[in-house]
Amino acid sequence: MADTVKLEIVTPDRKVLSEDVDYVGAPGAMGEFGILPNHVPFLSALGIGNLYYKLGGKTYYVFVAGGFAEVSHNKCTILAEVAEMAHEIDVDRAQKAADRAGQRAQQTKERLDFARNQAALRRAIARMSCQRAGKDAGTC
Ligand code: ATP
Repeated sequence: MADTVKLEIVTPDRKVLSEDVDYVGAPGAMGEFGILPNHVPFLSALGIGNLYYKLGGKTYYVFVAGGFAEVSHNKCTILAEVAEMAHEIDVDRAQKAADRAGQRAQQTKERLDFARNQAALRRAIARMSCQRAGKDAGTC
């Protein structure tokens, strides 16, 4: 039995991470799920939120939005539409994106694509919380 699980996070643009880790927690579309070494095969859509993984007693955070997670042969593959390690997140940019979403919600109610605006706001809030969590954990 393996005592770690291989975590790979990729987006259409790049490979974000490839690491042997102790545990993966991820924001599934239907709620958070956790993956330990030797997990049974598993497939889930991803929501918007913070994936985290544990390695050597530390917890690391990665923002993800959309895509799929697949677990097979002790490998957890995250095929994310968008993903950023906590240290890569530009918090000022996320704050501006949140402000824009707030302004759109107030100013353009008749023409507003509510779901799209809501998703932009959720991405911005999750990015800020991801970097905060990484800093609190001392891994960012
Ligand atoms: P923005 O309005 O600031 O572009 P967004 O949520 O619409 O934010 P996305 O469509 O999720 O942006 O991402 C587009 C690209 O920009 C992706 O490559 C993503 O990794 C990057 N990105 C977006 N926001 C940030 C951020 N705050 N810090 C680092 N990278 C970001």
